[in-house]
Amino acid sequence: MKKGACAIVNDCGDEMGASNQLHAAAEWIASAHAVAVLTGAGLSQESGVPTFRGPDGLWRRYRPEELATPDAFARDPHLVWEWYDWRRSVIARAEPNPAHYALAELERRVAQFALLTQNVDGLEEAAGCRNILRLHGDIWLLRCVGCGREEKNRTVPLPTLPPGCACGALLRPGVVWFGEPLPTEVLERAFAAAGQAKVFLVVGTSAVVQPAASLPLVAKQAGARVIEVNLEPTPLSPIADAAFYAPAGEILPQLLQVGVRQ
Ligand code: NAD
Repeated sequence: MKKGACAIVNDCGDEMGASNQLHAAAEWIASAHAVAVLTGAGLSQESGVPTFRGPDGLWRRYRPEELATPDAFARDPHLVWEWYDWRRSVIARAEPNPAHYALAELERRVAQFALLTQNVDGLEEAAGCRNILRLHGDIWLLRCVGCGREEKNRTVPLPTLPPGCACGALLRPGVVWFGEPLPTEVLERAFAAAGQAKVFLVVGTSAVVQPAASLPLVAKQAGARVIEVNLEPTPLSPIADAAFYAPAGEILPQLLQVGVRQ
């Protein structure tokens, strides 16, 4: 294991080392005036929202890469909407978990805070986060493929699949699909936040989907301390200054509480 990183569960096996790492990381956070956080599906796992790459039961016959694409929607909008309608129903029952609330608390404490999320569930906002850059869109947004009109819609289940717009064209989920570009302005602001951060937290992302996975590298190159929280190492782990391999709902509140006590 690289110097400076420590898996606090299983791998490290050194309780003192783990606690020192937690203490150090909490200090970095407590003394940083600018903190950016990149989150992925793992943040919402403890809220009961399945991650993309976890076992989905109902949908295990399909890979997300086969459903979350413009081609899939063009081929079979009903199937794609069935999947999104199911995901919306799962998310509608979910509530923010301690990791979401810890991020909201962090935002209140830090002068300059940015949450760069790949999640589309809106649970960060429900927990109280405000400065959120949604890299992959919003599952509660519907967008017309014809006239481009957008509407917020939290109806679960949707009465008709696929839903239609008043102009006669189909509505699609307001999320970014595989093969689609990320919204330019959001992406620019995310890279700017990464470049300004003194501490960059990476929480619950497998760090394989670009360009989001580049954000921690940009932060690191600009001099930020990178802290990873995940259940397991990822391609980003080698650049982490500290890494905690345990549920985000356990680690994030600890990172903040230790900071308060110092
Ligand atoms: P992913 O499924 O590829 O990876 C999830 C990561 O979270 C894994 O590395 C896993 O080890 C880790 N993880 C799981 N449970 C955790 C926990 N309790 N604490 C800490 N880490 C945990 O997800 P990703 O990296 O976000 O993948 C990209 C795509 O998934 C994004 O495009 C995103 O839009 C989409 N997605 C979003 C949601 C959501 O909005 N909640 C759900 C599923 C997928």
